[in-house]
Amino acid sequence: MNEQLSKLISLQELDVEIRRLQSEVNSLPVRQQELEQQFAASVKDYLDLKQQLDAALAEKRQLEYNLEDEQQKHQKFKDDLNKMTAPNIKIYETIMREIDTTRKTISVYETELLKQMERTEKLEALTGERQPEMEARRKEVDRQLAEWASATATAQQRLEELLAARAPMLAELGGEARSTYDRLSRMRSGLALSEARDYSCLACRMRIRPQVFNDIKRGEQIITCESCGRILYFKAEAATP
Ligand SMILES: [Zn+2]
Repeated sequence: MNEQLSKLISLQELDVEIRRLQSEVNSLPVRQQELEQQFAASVKDYLDLKQQLDAALAEKRQLEYNLEDEQQKHQKFKDDLNKMTAPNIKIYETIMREIDTTRKTISVYETELLKQMERTEKLEALTGERQPEMEARRKEVDRQLAEWASATATAQQRLEELLAARAPMLAELGGEARSTYDRLSRMRSGLALSEARDYSCLACRMRIRPQVFNDIKRGEQIITCESCGRILYFKAEAATP
């Protein structure tokens, strides 16, 4: 086979692999993001419950604080009453009123707190029920992410090896073949060469005349497709099914 042609074929094979690896490496952040979004959507119910639980717990703490505060006030008024030495009906009545008011408020807080405790217990039970499933999903996501990260690292390494191998390959090509390859590669979405099979250009499906096809098969000269302009080559192994 024509030496330039066989070098061009190797170069294109290399470039196709380089592009595949590049797109694999480049797509990692998008794949990661999509997976995280899927995960977030799949555990949305759980996260909503968790949020309700957090809010309920915060409300419960606030009620506990309010209750304690009110109990202290209540106690203070009781102490004031005990400390009264001279009977003063007006002060006495005021203190008694305060004792009564704080007692009522305490009772309201206690009732609310009981309700709130029931609520948080229910929410805790619900989130607890779902937690194992959620954790299993997260584990699966993490496993997938680790697998991708490791595959990407391998691809990145391979990519660097191929890029290093490309420079000498390009240098070996003659100046004309190199510029033809570059030009076609740019114009034809990265594929400067096309396989000729069954009297057709595989890239553009254009029929190839038998005489030209036989020339391509011999591979002695560089022949381009009349339709798409790509350099045509014949793969011997493709002929035998
Ligand atoms: Zn073609």
